Amino acid sequence: MAANAQGVAEAPFVWHPRSAAEAWQLKQTLGTEGVFTAGATLLRTQWESGLAVMPNHFINIGAIEELHGFEIDSVSGTGSFGAMTTLSHIRTSPQVGESFPVLVEATRNIAAPSIRNLATIGGNILSMVGDSLPALLLYDSVLHWHDGTNGLQEPLSEWLSTASAHAAWKERLLMSVELTLPILDSNTKRFVAYHKVGRRDAFTPSVVTAALTMQLDSEDRLSDVRLALGGGQTIPYRLESIESYLNGKLANKKTISEVYALIVEQFEPKGDTFVPVSYRKKAAANLIASELWKAARTAR
Ligand SMILES: Cc1cc2nc3c(=O)[nH]c(=O)nc-3n(C[C@H](O)[C@H](O)[C@H](O)COP(=O)(O)OP(=O)(O)OC[C@H]3O[C@@H](n4cnc5c(N)ncnc54)[C@H](O)[C@@H]3O)c2cc1C
Repeated sequence: MAANAQGVAEAPFVWHPRSAAEAWQLKQTLGTEGVFTAGATLLRTQWESGLAVMPNHFINIGAIEELHGFEIDSVSGTGSFGAMTTLSHIRTSPQVGESFPVLVEATRNIAAPSIRNLATIGGNILSMVGDSLPALLLYDSVLHWHDGTNGLQEPLSEWLSTASAHAAWKERLLMSVELTLPILDSNTKRFVAYHKVGRRDAFTPSVVTAALTMQLDSEDRLSDVRLALGGGQTIPYRLESIESYLNGKLANKKTISEVYALIVEQFEPKGDTFVPVSYRKKAAANLIASELWKAARTAR
């Protein structure tokens, strides 16, 4: 906490709650003046770039023990990541790599190691456009919130589709995100891919982010296809009708050219002055078409 020449405390004030209940209560008391602060890597860019004013009160959630770390339970088939788990922790964990490889690949594509050491999975999710989101969507992730009680759970896909319009979630504390392990079929080969198209040397929003998992049997037939796209200011989402179209299809030239056309038709990215919508659609379609082609070749 800063102090003036007379030794009187001045804003910004930093609070260090020890429990989720205490943090949540502080937020209720401080209202819009108080901001939950995890790694502060995103918050910092907002006030440094003039997009937001620096808040008067930071509610530092780093001392809340239950928000840290992760647990992967192969019996229940789930992985639970505390909101304060850093992207570096996820990125370097062999256990996470084995269970949720697309998530590890996504974190590898976020910022530089110095930022990843501070940046958290919770902060990345709540940015609504974080590069981990397409990967998390593939694992049917569920958000666990503290809103006075610990009972509020919400599928990530639902939260993403309503978050911009309904700001009530900003009053809550994100506790963890729970991922579901895909069920592996021993008769099929599983393929996973994550791509981020964009400049890496500075924080320029990506053009497209694409996450894909699928299974291919010995006859090149596709099953359990999961596809999520995002990028730039586009809130990532699963393209469920394209997933349904692909399930049961042969991974051949015909399917690949049909899926290319479907992505161009159905993916709705947000464009900007530098990267128009048409370019983002084609970039996404090319990424997915090339992954299908690679998978079909490898399987053979
Ligand atoms: C140089 C640089 C490069 C970057 N590159 C990328 C990139 O390539 N890809 C990318 O996706 N992001 C990037 N970022 C943005 C940022 O680093 C990540 O999104 C990061 O994961 C945010 O996590 P954080 O812990 O720092 O969040 P914070 O900045 O602490 O918080 C972000 C938001 O989430 C809220 N919040 C955080 N945790 C909770 C919680 N548990 N409950 C309730 N609210 C919470 C905060 O109030 C705030 O509104 C970059 C940032 C910088 C500075």
